[in-house]
Amino acid sequence: MSENKNNTRFRKYAYWILLFLAIAALAIVLVLTAQKSSEKNVAENEALPQQESFVSAEPITFLNPLLSCDVLKGYSNSALQYNKTLKQWEAHKAIDFAAEEGTDVYAVMDGKITEVSYNYLMGNVVKLDCGNGLVFVYKSLAGDVPVSVGQNVKKGDVIGKVGQTAKSEASDGPHLHFEAWLNDKNVDPNEYLDLEQK
Ligand SMILES: [Zn+2]
Repeated sequence: MSENKNNTRFRKYAYWILLFLAIAALAIVLVLTAQKSSEKNVAENEALPQQESFVSAEPITFLNPLLSCDVLKGYSNSALQYNKTLKQWEAHKAIDFAAEEGTDVYAVMDGKITEVSYNYLMGNVVKLDCGNGLVFVYKSLAGDVPVSVGQNVKKGDVIGKVGQTAKSEASDGPHLHFEAWLNDKNVDPNEYLDLEQK
């Protein structure tokens, strides 16, 4: 009789234990599933920016070095142009932009200032290294150059003012002498600038 009672009690406990185990197993399955799906979400989120940057890769555009670009003397790699200061014919591997003395001169692209110097022939010079071998050189700047070597600048930052400091081009009046260099080779700035843009 008493054995029978014990048996019933055991069966009752067994029922609860089994129910508990079943719930525990279900809980484990749920937790594992949730973990897996969150791992998957992380993987998807990590993959997304790469995809976005690939899709939205646009051609790089350069800002003009002056707000208003009035070309005084164009670029010529070999064709000779008359330098009325030096009274000689020479190639002009730069673009000269006429502007009033003190006009703001802009960084045409993000980059680093790698040279701020002065020399008698070209006046105050600022070199802007934009990476990937591309360097822009600004010459005949006014004396109060607002940037220094090693400074990182953003496209559109003022990195100088128009001056009349290049003695070799003094007869041309105040202007910016603007050069472009790619992998240490002088190139036509028109490759990068859109002088028609307003
Ligand atoms: Zn020039």
